[in-house]
Amino acid sequence: MKICRTVSELKNAISERRSLGSIGFVPTMGALHAGHASLIERCRAENATVVASVFVNPTQFNDKNDLKNYPRTEEADAALLESKGCDIVFMPSVEEVYPEPDTRVFDFGTIGAVMEGAHRPGHFNGVAQVVSRLFDFVNPDKAYFGEKDFQQIAIIKSMCKQLGLTLEIVECPIVREADGLAMSSRNTLLSPEQRAAAPVIHMTLAASVARKEWADVEETKKWVKEQIDSNNMLKVEYYDIVDSLTLCSVDSWEHDGSIYGCIAVQVGDVRLIDNIRYK
Ligand code: AMP
Repeated sequence: MKICRTVSELKNAISERRSLGSIGFVPTMGALHAGHASLIERCRAENATVVASVFVNPTQFNDKNDLKNYPRTEEADAALLESKGCDIVFMPSVEEVYPEPDTRVFDFGTIGAVMEGAHRPGHFNGVAQVVSRLFDFVNPDKAYFGEKDFQQIAIIKSMCKQLGLTLEIVECPIVREADGLAMSSRNTLLSPEQRAAAPVIHMTLAASVARKEWADVEETKKWVKEQIDSNNMLKVEYYDIVDSLTLCSVDSWEHDGSIYGCIAVQVGDVRLIDNIRYK
């Protein structure tokens, strides 16, 4: 596996392999876990060349403490990527990705304004800035994203449309710990007590799917919030039940189209997100 620190190293390494076939790309912020590994495995199975990036992108952090505390485990990340058959990893400095400040402002309409967009101002603009730059450096045929960041996938697809990019965005299922907690780099920041409480998030969402037979959408939202908030380690920031494409709230299970519940929960200083499919 080749480790590239600069854009020119990265472009050279990729151009040497382009004739072998499709280029698959997995962008990450590092502190890699089995969720990231599943994206690499899928990418490995579907492409001649696997490119990953490990870059903690400052422009997507609206909370500077979150950026400062974000876990960084570069050596372990490189080892995991190599063990999964990654060919090229891009591990750049901030200056390499942003030689000049990125002043672009994207407009994603409703999908950028609700849920994470409402609670993390500027977050998706930063995501679009970095992912569009990475796509420009790598020029992949396919890029792999996890459904844990459900809204992010909608944002990336919209960004590709706006920029006229034709690569395929591949959506990969959420990988969970044995107790149901969605794997996240931020889980390592939880205290043992917080870690013990966190599985309540997925447990509650899963139970709410079964309750949908008799509880309507409003009642379900209320119940989920109450269940989770009743644990004093957990505080729901938002829980919404939305159409999977428009991300607008739905008011009935009869809604035409697929329905997801999306949640953000504050666990001490750590903010966790998760989601579940209702239909
Ligand atoms: P991150 O390093 O958190 O920016 O995540 C990089 C990619 O891995 C994103 O596409 C995430 O959605 C994906 N990812 C993170 N956690 C998981 C998980 N538990 N299951 C599946 N994909 C994940």
